[in-house]
Amino acid sequence: MTTSLASLLPSLLGAFTTQALGYFALVCGVYALVWRWGRERLRDARIPSPRRVDRAQIRREFGHTLVTLLAGAVSAGALMWLHGAGLARLSDAPAPLRVVAAWVVAGLVFNDAWFYGWHRLLHRPWLFRHVHSVHHKSVDVNPFTSYSFHAVEALVLSAWVVPAAIFLPVPMAALGVLQVVGLGNNVMAHLGYELLPRWILRVPLVRWTNTATFHSLHHTRLRGNYGLHTRLWDRLFGTEVDDYEAVFLARGSVTPSSPSSPSSPSSPSSPPDGAR
Ligand SMILES: [Zn+2]
Ligand SMILES: [Zn+2]
Repeated sequence: MTTSLASLLPSLLGAFTTQALGYFALVCGVYALVWRWGRERLRDARIPSPRRVDRAQIRREFGHTLVTLLAGAVSAGALMWLHGAGLARLSDAPAPLRVVAAWVVAGLVFNDAWFYGWHRLLHRPWLFRHVHSVHHKSVDVNPFTSYSFHAVEALVLSAWVVPAAIFLPVPMAALGVLQVVGLGNNVMAHLGYELLPRWILRVPLVRWTNTATFHSLHHTRLRGNYGLHTRLWDRLFGTEVDDYEAVFLARGSVTPSSPSSPSSPSSPSSPPDGAR
């Protein structure tokens, strides 16, 4: 059975609308809960930043998010077309829970490596200047930063499912779970508040997962902490920010240097000292 691109348009529109509604429901909910309701209550968990978010930043992030959601719909469309044309091994047959769980774990491991490799490349001067600087315009990250990407970056970061679906019999249910986990991880990484307890650094395995502090340091330092789900690749390649654990433990004891200065005019257009 083949599927024409034109016949995919209604389902693409549906996929885009569903994703957009789900995304904004989650992000607006988290923003209202943590940034509004928790503004005073969670003051000690607020991650310090040399520059504070303003309305212009959130408006800009909103626009880039729509581009990212469109890129996600394009990747979904490519998947649907390949599946309809019989070119993908993607499986829509019901699969046992343990099989879906195994694919989810494998997908997380693969995506973690895929993201780290691409993220390092995106910090090469040319790619940073023309593509990745869009994401790094946000220094003081917040839930609306989660999908604030250049279209090229959004395509690259969502396209890993295409080769995976071509070569592997991935159950569709696993792809759905991976998408939800990926979104949750992205929102957590850009939360701007560290809600995880300090003692996680003493727990084997758990201590190697990404945290809001870990990724916020990537935005404020512009170098190091490139990982998505874990710290493993940064540890392996020596790119972890040296004082990450100290900053994670010291939350609430550091006062931001500039509480409300505007963010966009002096946003970085190239990484310091070239690519790292
Ligand atoms: Zn980056
Ligand atoms: Zn980020």
